[in-house]
Amino acid sequence: MKSIAELTEKLLAQDRRALSKSITLVESSRPQDREKALALLDTIMPYTGKSLRLGISGTPGVGKSTFIEAYGQYLIQQGQKIAALTIDPSSKLRGGSILGDKTRMPMLANDPAAYIRPTPSGSLLGGVARRSREVIALCEAAGFDTVMVETVGVGQSETEVANMTDCYLLLLQPASGDTLQGIKRGIMELADIVVVNKADGALLPSARESAGHYMRALSLMPRKMPDWDCPVVLCSSLQKEGLEALDQHIQSFMTQSRDTGHFENKREQQLRYWLEDETIACLIERFKRDPQIRIQFAALENKLTEGKSPAALAADFSNKILNPDIL
Ligand code: GDP
Repeated sequence: MKSIAELTEKLLAQDRRALSKSITLVESSRPQDREKALALLDTIMPYTGKSLRLGISGTPGVGKSTFIEAYGQYLIQQGQKIAALTIDPSSKLRGGSILGDKTRMPMLANDPAAYIRPTPSGSLLGGVARRSREVIALCEAAGFDTVMVETVGVGQSETEVANMTDCYLLLLQPASGDTLQGIKRGIMELADIVVVNKADGALLPSARESAGHYMRALSLMPRKMPDWDCPVVLCSSLQKEGLEALDQHIQSFMTQSRDTGHFENKREQQLRYWLEDETIACLIERFKRDPQIRIQFAALENKLTEGKSPAALAADFSNKILNPDIL
């Protein structure tokens, strides 16, 4: 690719190779790539924002990849182009594998209306979440109507994904009483729609029972959007059942979200959060790279052995950074 202008042009012309190259560029940690990535993002910004950004959360084994495959195909049948930023579960073992999602979602991986981009698992925190927002923007510029962002159902990454999507689906499965109690309240509170997957065959009665339990649990939680009671929808990703009903719930959520101004507020808040997050991350990076600071830090580490308390040392150090003349 000769220049950023050429890359941008191809991306906006919905060229898949250009999209892959653009994503690699924004995910690169090399400073010279970052400059190019920022130029690219700056140019495409007016062409972003139009997709439905869908967060898809759930613990490993609940059926996220089967669901993304099934619902993705459903949306494609409705004439949509869909992108999925997925977690590559094999990446920790193999140090990053592009093949991982080809096998997790074989139909979508071969569909020209779908684009799947695996993110190494475990790296959503500490950097990739920042880039995920940029990757969503790139997918939008490349003309995708729905961008799904998958997350593994634990801790901070959930909130991160909720902070970059319009509608957040929590996938759960039929479960026994004990397991039901173990579902973290914080995770349920993030959900706009709860999907009970695997509602098929012998699991159907237990799926219905679990749905009742989830509904009762949700009724005790604060609403995320006024007048929206988080629905609990039964679905079988394997049998491709319940997807249309789920799609209607998503549409209703989005219509209500847009009509009440919730959508606009949320997107604005997310942009603010993005700015803050990016600024803090840039400062930390600069801090870590600065040769003076590194020397000072090493000196402080040595002082530790003299028995001074780490808190006092940290305060000393912070003062020095805030008053660089002292350095
Ligand atoms: P992930 O780890 O959340 O991505 O889960 P997977 O999509 O890999 O699914 C885990 C297992 O659950 C696989 O064996 C799937 O075949 C199975 N599974 C997924 N969806 C369904 C479903 O709707 N019904 C049933 N019975 N099994 C399912």
